[in-house]
Amino acid sequence: MARIETPRRVRGTQDIFGEEQRRFAHVLATFERVRRLYCFGRVDLPVFEATEVFARSIGETTDVVSKEMYTFPDRGGDSLTLRPEFTAGIARAFLTEGWQQYAPLKVTTSGAVFRYERPQKGRYRQFHQIDAEILGAPEPAADVELLVMADQLLRELGIADGVTLQLNTLGDAETREAWRAGLVAHFEAHRGELSEDSLTRLDKNPMRILDSKDPRDRPIADAAPDIDAYLTDEARAFFDAVTAGLDAAGVAWTRNARLVRGLDYYRHTAFEFVTDRLGAQGTVLAGGRYDGLVESLGGAPTAGVGWAAGVERLAMLLEEPAASTIDAVVVPMGAAAEARALGLVAALRRAGFAIDMAYKGKMKQRLAKADALGARYALILGDDELASDQIQVKRLADGVQQVHPLDAVAEALV
Ligand code: ATP
Ligand code: MG
Repeated sequence: MARIETPRRVRGTQDIFGEEQRRFAHVLATFERVRRLYCFGRVDLPVFEATEVFARSIGETTDVVSKEMYTFPDRGGDSLTLRPEFTAGIARAFLTEGWQQYAPLKVTTSGAVFRYERPQKGRYRQFHQIDAEILGAPEPAADVELLVMADQLLRELGIADGVTLQLNTLGDAETREAWRAGLVAHFEAHRGELSEDSLTRLDKNPMRILDSKDPRDRPIADAAPDIDAYLTDEARAFFDAVTAGLDAAGVAWTRNARLVRGLDYYRHTAFEFVTDRLGAQGTVLAGGRYDGLVESLGGAPTAGVGWAAGVERLAMLLEEPAASTIDAVVVPMGAAAEARALGLVAALRRAGFAIDMAYKGKMKQRLAKADALGARYALILGDDELASDQIQVKRLADGVQQVHPLDAVAEALV
């Protein structure tokens, strides 16, 4: 018979198991707790959208839209795209589901997102994000709330040390236009020294030259004018209100005047939480204000601000999470005990105890399994115990073993 080949896991995807899964789950559980503390609602959205949702909002010239999207025609011939991020889908739902009535709308979501990228440590083709957004709040207080929330999340995950909040402003529309013109003039004067990529950016998206990693671009990018000289009074007041809010909340930040967002709809606040512990994949959480986004999808002008973080990158930074524990493992010896144990296990689980059953192998192996599961107790049931309606309760931490009445075993576990 021909050998059947096992299908392979698709490049850039992950099967998350064991300790990795516990880290992953810990990030999501912590996010869920922090979400409640900040009174954000939870939304769950489709994994795919009409391609235009992303193409129109994220922008055709970005890496994500120009080369990273999983786009395909469905059987009806519509062009669909697996979500590469959450913000565009939330803005689409805001419009199609009439969520304007809830503005200001504070929501979070999480789940798988898809980008066709070169896989490496901390970079996958299917990865996971947690995401928080506020739609319909033009005030700097919304930016502050989201930043303080992000900071608290990192603190509760125990990874805030060594992570820096880098903050910048992109100003209002007027500021941005003037700064853009200043940048173009500066880069035009150094056209001959720029990398090929940056020459393309110069035509389509000149701000992106500022965060170019190409060494040929760095000296020119570093010498480019900061936005500060172009800030309108309103834009400056907005940024001052954000930084004052962070100071009042005790959230440390540093100014990074080179931090930009290439897309036209970004305004005012742009930020990244950055660590040096993940090599080139150092950005763990990123976001900003996107007051032009909803309009780009055909809606009325609507303020928006939000952030997203990679769950895998946060999980990698965690200290080893506490191993999972359970209350007891039931160890029946012999057929009669096994039958009785089924009822006992069911009753204890219904009473809220985490119980596993070790029904195979020698006593020693079964106790080893109980240990490996992190059980506090082993409950040993043999013919002698059955005959007297009793059970052996063995505390695994110190091996102390006592006999208990079978119908009162729950009392021995608390
Ligand atoms: P990068 O510069 O690392 O490509 P990005 O600017 O594309 O990041 P965002 O679009 O801002 O990232 O996404 C928010 C967060 O999602 C990032 O800060 C990062 O933690 C995570 N992330 C982005 N791309 C990937 C990926 N391919 N695999 C795993 N995590 C990712
Ligand atoms: Mg990217």
